[in-house]
Amino acid sequence: MENCLFCKIIGGVIPSTKVYEDETVYAFRDINPQAPTHVLVVPKAHIADCNGINTENAAVVAHIFEVIPAIAKAEGLEGGYRVVSNCGADAGQTVQHLHFHILGGKQLSLEMA
Ligand code: 5GP
Ligand code: ZN
Repeated sequence: MENCLFCKIIGGVIPSTKVYEDETVYAFRDINPQAPTHVLVVPKAHIADCNGINTENAAVVAHIFEVIPAIAKAEGLEGGYRVVSNCGADAGQTVQHLHFHILGGKQLSLEMA
């Protein structure tokens, strides 16, 4: 997607601090962290949001949920962590490329972070 910020990050057009990468998934540090650890995990293929998950692309989402615990372990989040995906305007989604926030490294409140 030409005008998608996260597609540009995945493609290296916009720099990011990489945390993890494989054939289908990319993870990088959030530019405006809401917790001591704040990582964004995205499918490399463009999916706009949770509503865009379907039978054809669901495997990458399942894979993301295999990758998330590995990232959490590597980040030392033994005490726990939160996974958040904002879908749509009411949820405050600001980037229309499916992403999962991993938040941790402190006692989290009931707000997103
Ligand atoms: P959303 O609000 O859509 O759930 O989350 C978007 C996230 O992307 C925000 O937490 C925001 O800080 C992060 N973000 C926005 N622009 C950039 C950027 O250019 N680089 C990085 N690493 N994160 C970004
Ligand atoms: Zn995209």
